[in-house]
Amino acid sequence: MIHKILPVGPLQCNCSIIGDEASHEAMVIDPGDDIEDILAIIREHNLKVKQIVITHAHIDHVGGAMKLRAQTGAPILLNQNDYALLKMLDVQAAWLGMRPPGAVEIAHDLKDGQSVTAGSLSGDVLHTPGHTEGSVCLYFPAEKLLIAGDTLFAGSIGRTDLPGGSYQKILRSLHDRVLVLPDETVVIPGHGPTSTIGEEREGNPFLK
Ligand SMILES: [Zn+2]
Repeated sequence: MIHKILPVGPLQCNCSIIGDEASHEAMVIDPGDDIEDILAIIREHNLKVKQIVITHAHIDHVGGAMKLRAQTGAPILLNQNDYALLKMLDVQAAWLGMRPPGAVEIAHDLKDGQSVTAGSLSGDVLHTPGHTEGSVCLYFPAEKLLIAGDTLFAGSIGRTDLPGGSYQKILRSLHDRVLVLPDETVVIPGHGPTSTIGEEREGNPFLK
């Protein structure tokens, strides 16, 4: 597996570029910004982007999706519980003093239990509401890898004080869907350093 993690935009959202070494098919997760840098990695590894996966509809995760779609032709996928939040990108941009990215067109709903594939790589969609209603994590069982969006961070969890957030729901999602994964699973949070399920189970103060 080819896996590049690129912090993008002013909030340094971790964009993941995940490619299958045999077929060179790839998916890009959370292309929030800096699309030229993402495209440079795609060209360097000669990848064909098949899917653009959005973990949740915050501007720092989805802001560059349409530019990437224009360059790759890949469909943009988002859980339908975040479609309302996606319509508020102008409001989100105003909060952050950013330029609104324009409307984002979703090809289809990222449903719980669905698999997202690129070549031989397959990620399972875990619907993990709490940070937003439509937040998802993407779990690659064969690679023991979790792309966690803003649900879980190294030593912390996603904020729940923004529209659609719920502290009760994020805790339920973390306990029922995330902490049940194997300890050795590598966690790529939406921001900041990488961790593992085992380290977070042991040391994350929000999960005691
Ligand atoms: Zn977020």
